[in-house]
Amino acid sequence: MESMSQWGFDRLTSGLMERSDVLRHILQSMSDSIMIVDSGGEIVYASSQHLCISVPSHIAKYMDNVHERCRKAVVRTFYRIKKQGKPISVQYEYKAAGGGWLWVESTGIPLAGGNGEVGYIAVLMKDITQRKQAEESLRELAFHDPLTGLPNRRLFREHLLQSLAQAKRSRGLLGLMYLDIDDFKLINDTMGHEAGDDFLKAFATRIKGCIREVDMVARMGGDEFTVLLPTVDSASNVEKVAKRIFAAISAPWETRGHQFSATVSCGIVVYPANGEDAATLLRNVDTALYKVKESGRNNYMFYDPAILK
Ligand code: GH3
Ligand code: MG
Repeated sequence: MESMSQWGFDRLTSGLMERSDVLRHILQSMSDSIMIVDSGGEIVYASSQHLCISVPSHIAKYMDNVHERCRKAVVRTFYRIKKQGKPISVQYEYKAAGGGWLWVESTGIPLAGGNGEVGYIAVLMKDITQRKQAEESLRELAFHDPLTGLPNRRLFREHLLQSLAQAKRSRGLLGLMYLDIDDFKLINDTMGHEAGDDFLKAFATRIKGCIREVDMVARMGGDEFTVLLPTVDSASNVEKVAKRIFAAISAPWETRGHQFSATVSCGIVVYPANGEDAATLLRNVDTALYKVKESGRNNYMFYDPAILK
């Protein structure tokens, strides 16, 4: 642990800190901000360029500006620093002085007090909002389809695996539909690829309007979509959603001045009756979809019709 005298301070007051020209110059040319908190939680020093945060006089008030969902992690870090006597970092959202939220990465450095215990914690704060936003948009790109904004195959797979684990734990049922638009090539060929794109976006919106918040619709690629119902009471609940989707799709469409009708084919499976793992469920739902296509399209079919009873 560093001692305060190593830093050139015997007694720490903001006045003393500000009087040291070299230190003041260093602290004020840093892009990061620093505050020093004593063992009673009093903020005894804060550098003037303190992000766009207004610094209160006590750490409890500072904590009021930390986003609720991050508070536990920040408090836990504070106690770990005191206990372990070594620097630890934590990231959290902090209310900016002008409103809105900043992402902050703080490193707390314990400084020894007179009795050898942690007397002060120097907190170095870095504004990482831009980095967080860049990470978020990369995540968005990696897990979403850019055309419709829907979750992509990758995110769907993650959700399916999580939902299956949850259904297994709770001995619940899960429903999965696989939809493929009928004769979509014809829509592209007669109205153009851009109208086809607009239709895919509108199609995604109509499906989203048929499901609950906990359900998920994903674009698997091309004109293929999945609908995941992670908690259902029975196969007939899944059928109700399928009926709602088919009613929504059967309403007339208008894209770039073209009016037309569209249909979709859909295979359905229910966990655990139609498979106990993701690979089996996906294989069986594909078989059911293939049967619908084969038997004339514009319909839905469960993999095993016996489960409809
Ligand atoms: P089926 O009834 O058998 O499903 O016939 P289909 O014409 O719908 O053919 P299929 O599902 O095999 O092919 C989907 C077509 O969707 C192929 C491709 O040209 C088109 N497509 C794939 N991605 C996009 C896209 O992002 N935008 C547009 N406009 N078309 C796409
Ligand atoms: Mg198709």
